[in-house]
Amino acid sequence: MKLVFATNNKNKIKEIKSLLTDSLELLSLEDIDCYKDIPETSETIAGNALQKAKYVFDNYGYNCFADDTGLEIDSLNGEPGIYSARYAGEKKSAEANMDKVLTKLEHIDNRKAHFKTVIALIIDGKETLFEGVAKGEIMLSKSGSKGFGYDPIFKPDGLDTTFSEMNTEEKNKISHRGQAVQLLIAHLSVTP
Ligand code: IMP
Repeated sequence: MKLVFATNNKNKIKEIKSLLTDSLELLSLEDIDCYKDIPETSETIAGNALQKAKYVFDNYGYNCFADDTGLEIDSLNGEPGIYSARYAGEKKSAEANMDKVLTKLEHIDNRKAHFKTVIALIIDGKETLFEGVAKGEIMLSKSGSKGFGYDPIFKPDGLDTTFSEMNTEEKNKISHRGQAVQLLIAHLSVTP
């Protein structure tokens, strides 16, 4: 079966390809000649994932899945949430986004937060959602040089390092996206 992953992020494609069986041919948006900026106008992470998957299914006719992720900070009422990529503006600067979070939390003791990933899968019109959550807290300053996004300021519960101080393999084992991907893979492995 051909299955589109509604992304052009080569790292994400590579990661999932290595986990899928040969009976599934994973295609990127580029592979199906989709160069559109797919709309993400939902108020929720799940809604955005579903919107992207539906767009490909409805317009290109392929079975498809899409992911969406956000950082939700308890004391900021779930911000940045669906605005995680562009929290500090349309330049989508990870440094500026982290600075904005650190400034907003400057005088706040409750630094609890979580990352949430939702993967929406559509096969023959049937929609299934898979969710992964990584709980942790926002540090007082950035540390580490690996990863991306908010990794340097996020420390997962039970560990002493930020995501940015872990290698990809270590992070994938416990991360929000890693968990959602594992659920997707398990589901696909029993789907005829
Ligand atoms: P996306 O839905 O995967 O594009 O993620 C949206 C935004 O959330 C990214 O631009 C990052 O700012 C942030 N983000 C997503 N996943 C991670 C992660 O694993 N670590 C740190 N930041 C992340």
